[in-house]
Amino acid sequence: MRSNVTQYDLIAPKSLDAVLQILADSPDRYTPIAGGTELMVGLGAGRLQSKKLISLWHLEELRFIEVTPDAIIIGAGTTFTDIRRHPVIAEEFSILAQAASWTGSIANQNRGTLGGNIVNASPAADSPPVLLAYDADLTLISTQGARTVPYRDFHLAYKETALEPYELLNSITISRNLSSYKTYIRKVGTRNAQAISKVAIAALARMNGNQIEDIRIGAASLREYPTRLAAAERALTGKTITPEVIAAARAAVLNEARPIDDIRSTAKYRAFVAANLLEEFLHTL
Ligand SMILES: Cc1cc2nc3c(=O)[nH]c(=O)nc-3n(C[C@H](O)[C@H](O)[C@H](O)COP(=O)(O)OP(=O)(O)OC[C@H]3O[C@@H](n4cnc5c(N)ncnc54)[C@H](O)[C@@H]3O)c2cc1C
Repeated sequence: MRSNVTQYDLIAPKSLDAVLQILADSPDRYTPIAGGTELMVGLGAGRLQSKKLISLWHLEELRFIEVTPDAIIIGAGTTFTDIRRHPVIAEEFSILAQAASWTGSIANQNRGTLGGNIVNASPAADSPPVLLAYDADLTLISTQGARTVPYRDFHLAYKETALEPYELLNSITISRNLSSYKTYIRKVGTRNAQAISKVAIAALARMNGNQIEDIRIGAASLREYPTRLAAAERALTGKTITPEVIAAARAAVLNEARPIDDIRSTAKYRAFVAANLLEEFLHTL
């Protein structure tokens, strides 16, 4: 059943400080809304629990892309269109640009934000595997100040994160010191466009001759939240790629994956396709 919008209240303070103060004064009462492309679906379907929303959409303080010599810092309110169009992201963080380009439709990309994608914490979302592979850091802010959380520690359980009710995600930081890494990304969905993934892998690897010196594998739809495939990473680090090593990595993926059966796919399909995707990446190395 659709929601009755008259039961909902939306406020839009003019500054980030004002939003943080309201969150501090009334934790749990207001739910932040950025682009609204997740929350409005809930509203339409009559399952948006929070009746009080606080808008972040117009806050320029959250919508920026800053490039420093060592890192790129992306404001949580940056849209996928902003990301797709940014020259440094296109050049140096191509798998992030790729993930942004296949997130929903153009309308979604104009409105949906990177911060909303992360905090919404869907196991199937497109940007998390990339941010895991890049080993991004998140900056969380409140009236008490800022704290940094490695993105790999942000998700705690299904739809549970390290974010406190009085905090906002401010920005995402990715090191620029990644030029020696080879990258991979692939999303498997029902269609090439406008499909939520059945399974997706984003990965980075640095080679030393024939040996894998470092590898980071981010995955969607393999666990209850976006996750690194740590066992597969361990099976590959320091190894030369041989058929036996590929077989061990595949076995590690099948062992550590905890996918589910749902309307989009089956657990078995997801696990096997994830192993296939990893193998595809290893062949490119
Ligand atoms: C038709 C359609 C297709 C879609 N396709 C895809 C797809 O292919 N891939 C994909 O990954 N997603 C997809 N989505 C989901 C959605 O577009 C993305 O998750 C988007 O990034 C959400 O961002 P938003 O700004 O709209 O989030 P909102 O709906 O505004 O918020 C989502 C959640 O994040 C919280 N939040 C937002 N910003 C902050 C912040 N700065 N600090 C703290 N909390 C915050 C909100 O409180 C809420 O809980 C689709 C959605 C629709 C409707």
